Amino acid sequence: MSRIYNFSAGPAALPEEVLQQAQEEMLDWHGSGMSVMEMSHRGKEFMSIAEQAEADLRELMAIPDNYKVLFLQGGASSQFAMVPLNLRKNGIFNYVNTGSWSKKAISEAKRFGEVAIAGTSSEGKFDVPSQEKLELNGNADYLHYTPNETIQGIEFPYVPNAGDVPLVADFSSSILSHPVDVYRFGIIYAGAQKNIGPAGLTLAIVRDDLITELGSDVPTMFSYKTHADNDSMYNTPPTYAWYLSGLVFQWLKKIGGLPAMAKINERKSEALYTAIDDSDFYSNPVDPGCRSWMNIPFILADAELDGTFLAEASEAGLKTLKGHRSVGGMRASIYNAMPEEGVQALIDFMADFEKRHG
Ligand SMILES: *Cc1c(COP(=O)(O)O)cnc(C)c1O
Repeated sequence: MSRIYNFSAGPAALPEEVLQQAQEEMLDWHGSGMSVMEMSHRGKEFMSIAEQAEADLRELMAIPDNYKVLFLQGGASSQFAMVPLNLRKNGIFNYVNTGSWSKKAISEAKRFGEVAIAGTSSEGKFDVPSQEKLELNGNADYLHYTPNETIQGIEFPYVPNAGDVPLVADFSSSILSHPVDVYRFGIIYAGAQKNIGPAGLTLAIVRDDLITELGSDVPTMFSYKTHADNDSMYNTPPTYAWYLSGLVFQWLKKIGGLPAMAKINERKSEALYTAIDDSDFYSNPVDPGCRSWMNIPFILADAELDGTFLAEASEAGLKTLKGHRSVGGMRASIYNAMPEEGVQALIDFMADFEKRHG
């Protein structure tokens, strides 16, 4: 067996130890005689898996008791609609627009009310607006932002102060990469396939007071209350993704939790940014004050070499480095599960490629 280093933006690499454990438990989970995939979600075996995963996540993120943790489906893209549907009172929604995923969230919210833009990246730049620049709308039902823009590689260096309105964050590509003060948020949501587990699971961490009875025109499955009242088992949840995410939470705890993970992520991203900045051959377009720890785009001085770079990288076992078409060049997604050796292998390859082609 030879495993490659997978720099995919999502679905992304999972910790090898977790995959091995899943393999060992695949046919017979803890003497149950079945695979987790075959279990009733209401049986005692799966209930214990579900409860352990939630308890471990609560511990990792220090989630206060007045927040529900919901294990949902539909991806972050469904949350783009669920957030306005569940929080709308005045029908005014405040959004910060810093890139592709912000834009998608905004266009979905427009179906349900009026969107007031609180701030944007500077024209033609890869940056985020400072707190002082945010135009907060006191009548808004919430303020929404995207802490990490997966495509542009922009990460907020601060948590916005939303004043009196709930702060809602799409943490799909940076959840669990470093500690966050959950109590500062009304809702944190994330699709699992980047930094949690396999595709199919979506996490929503929702403060109790934001879980309310909705009008009868809102589909049952789009109400947080439905899922909160039923411990995320109103219908069949994505059981195997839930289980694997639970294994990832245990892996994180073993490493030393989010403070330890953050140190590793800082080292990995600093090493790669330093390699990019020290060369005239590679460049990164993002303002150094808000560069992502998770998604690192880099452009080759000569775009004609992009194809050769990708082919040779792939040959060297460094896969899925092609950048998003809207940014061009390359993108290395280095989520929690990307080992430091993987980042070093990429840096070494880049130096060697530059020597031969630069
Ligand atoms: C990937 C991603 C999404 C979309 O997630 P789905 O689970 O595919 O709906 C939304 N927001 C961000 C920041 C992402 O990285």
